[in-house]
Amino acid sequence: MVAVYPGSFDPATNGHLDIIKRASKLADKLYVAVLRNSSKNCLFSVEERMSQLQLITKGFPNVIVTSFSGLLVEFVKGSGADVIIRGLRAVTDFEYEFQLALTNRSINPDIETLFISASTKYLFLSSSVVKEIANYGGCIDDMVPQEIKGVLMDKLRGSPC
Ligand code: ADP
Repeated sequence: MVAVYPGSFDPATNGHLDIIKRASKLADKLYVAVLRNSSKNCLFSVEERMSQLQLITKGFPNVIVTSFSGLLVEFVKGSGADVIIRGLRAVTDFEYEFQLALTNRSINPDIETLFISASTKYLFLSSSVVKEIANYGGCIDDMVPQEIKGVLMDKLRGSPC
């Protein structure tokens, strides 16, 4: 199985890394794909997020970090993948994720969306929560990999990373 795990990853959290670890056991090849045309206002550039993801996934030989713009299903098809991986946290994720999965299926019924449930300890963890806590000087040690903590602190201090 060749799979694509798409997202904003602004920045990648331990919750994302947990999904990557688990999905990389299911897939022969896993593309972790940073979305380029997001309407979200991102803290990190796509290139910064890609190099962060490369750093934290270097122990997974079947994980390839990439980026995409345009329709996800087109990117999935073009990569030779047939499965989209998404993480599901609390019920609040469900409606949005379900809608996304159904929309993608209506565009290309050959591509399946596979949901992986969040681990209990990361159930309420999101990139925005991490940024908010870090911004106010709170401890994010259990929320992001060490490498991400460093670049996030640098970014919030306004120094180049
Ligand atoms: P998007 O902008 O596509 O929602 P995110 O980077 O916020 O991008 O999330 C990418 C995927 O990872 C989504 O499927 C999201 O539900 C999932 N995800 C985010 N945080 C967690 C977490 N703590 N545990 C499990 N899955 C998560």
